[in-house]
Amino acid sequence: MGRALIELVPIGNVDAEVLDFLALVLPETLPVSCHIRNHPVELEAAYHPLRQQYHSTELLAQLIRGHRNPAAKVLGVTDVDLFIPILTFVFGEAQLGGTAAVLSIYRLDQRFYGLPEDRRLFFERCEKEALHELGHTFGLVHCSDFECVMHFSNSIEHVDLKSNAFCASCGRIVREAIARLASAPKAS
Ligand SMILES: [Zn+2]
Ligand SMILES: [Zn+2]
Repeated sequence: MGRALIELVPIGNVDAEVLDFLALVLPETLPVSCHIRNHPVELEAAYHPLRQQYHSTELLAQLIRGHRNPAAKVLGVTDVDLFIPILTFVFGEAQLGGTAAVLSIYRLDQRFYGLPEDRRLFFERCEKEALHELGHTFGLVHCSDFECVMHFSNSIEHVDLKSNAFCASCGRIVREAIARLASAPKAS
């Protein structure tokens, strides 16, 4: 049986260090292999000129259209600010129990809040939010345990409060889903 795969797809001019970091740390928490894949995503198609933000659902649709490997999940990582129509912004969006997720690193940087850059904190936040969005693709909903990485965060303070780990019950669900993904038929 193979290993489940996570494909990290850069969207826009994402700092390559962030992608390298995620490819390194995600397999420490999840029993997966992690690759960076360059797949053209048309950022302008998602741009909303009045909000001056990008509609995450449109980026998600493009990632799903470009998806080839049934044994893989796709996480798009972008440096632009994302929104969905009912919210002022989102850190990310995922298909629940689906294939793809998208993460914005835009509001994870201290400089967004007018504070000095803090690379360690920024990378920690990237890891938590990547795990959170991938957790949704493995079928996890929001968790009431405030330390669990699946706890809902709509502000950076909430991101910082939770840990970079799944609670016992979320962890069990995610490992079962990964085992099913690993045994999925491979793409020809
Ligand atoms: Zn969520
Ligand atoms: Zn949990």
